[in-house]
Amino acid sequence: MRITVLSGGIGGARFLTGLRSAVDPDRDPITVIGNTADDIWLFGLRVCPDLDTVMYTLGGEIDPERGWGRRDETWQAKDELAAYGVEPTWFGLGDRDMATHLVRTQMLTAGYPLSAVTEALCARWDLGLRLLPMTDDRVETHVVVDDPTAEAGRRAVHFQEYWVRLHAPVAHSVVPVGAEDARPGPGVVEAIAEADVLILPPSNPVVSIGTILAVPGVADAIRQTSAAVVGVSPIIGGAPVRGMADKLLPVIGVDVSARAVAAHYGSRSAGGLLDGWLVDEADAADIAEIERVGLAARAVPLYMTGPDAAQSLARDTLELAASIQAVGAS
Ligand code: GDP
Ligand code: CA
Repeated sequence: MRITVLSGGIGGARFLTGLRSAVDPDRDPITVIGNTADDIWLFGLRVCPDLDTVMYTLGGEIDPERGWGRRDETWQAKDELAAYGVEPTWFGLGDRDMATHLVRTQMLTAGYPLSAVTEALCARWDLGLRLLPMTDDRVETHVVVDDPTAEAGRRAVHFQEYWVRLHAPVAHSVVPVGAEDARPGPGVVEAIAEADVLILPPSNPVVSIGTILAVPGVADAIRQTSAAVVGVSPIIGGAPVRGMADKLLPVIGVDVSARAVAAHYGSRSAGGLLDGWLVDEADAADIAEIERVGLAARAVPLYMTGPDAAQSLARDTLELAASIQAVGAS
């Protein structure tokens, strides 16, 4: 069984730890297509927050409390940069983490594409899966926010500034700048086309999954794959489990609910992207409406409170995929 997963940072990475432990990765190889639209240049370094969250989480070296960056981190370089008065001071660049960005930047500067750089970085860690950037091209999510000091009363900021420095204020639009002209990274379309199971884990539908889908060719590959395509709701009981996804869904006209996100992705039977959708037991009442959209739906526990819960969620996801494959085969 070949399994492919589209992933953002924390939600995707936690799901992936559960998935890796639920299968035998030698027999059931896992390929991850990682979001790169959070990427940013800082102090001359190329930082790829979502790729690194997946790499550190699966490598067992993520900081478990923060959910990003390295465990046992120190911040001396950051303090020294602040002492020089250089901006930005709001982004947490730890000393250990910085080594990753130095290697990445050195390789990019030498002319290697991000996919090759990511493969080289991952070789150090025993991930038990293959991590592919969604694209080698530069794509960066920008968010338009109010700014009374700007001539237009509004200003576009990089997603990291919106999220980390401004803490997700009211947004007017979200634009994955560069996505239109981006090409899927090496292996991305193949990983979708040749998968038996394709999973949309509980990652942010707008700035993680949405940006991967914005790379031309990715959504079409999902519509056409013979894989069972199943997703896990990042919304439970009308709120995101973690983070500020509720701030961005309304910007793209989607209600903050498990059923609205399912309808937003849509059923492949009607030109959409999914065959099945998992909601939390708290949202069991949504199932009838999700089935009406043309999706197979189940209510199971969706909180990944630890490795066991993440594993059992991964098993439920694979079971839903298997039931869809069985219907397709009959
Ligand atoms: P980011 O790039 O770090 O923001 O991470 P992702 O895009 O991969 O995931 C963020 C989403 O994960 C948020 O919308 C959360 O609601 C969701 N999430 C985080 N933890 C859990 C969990 O335990 N269960 C579920 N169902 N969703 C979660
Ligand atoms: Ca992210």
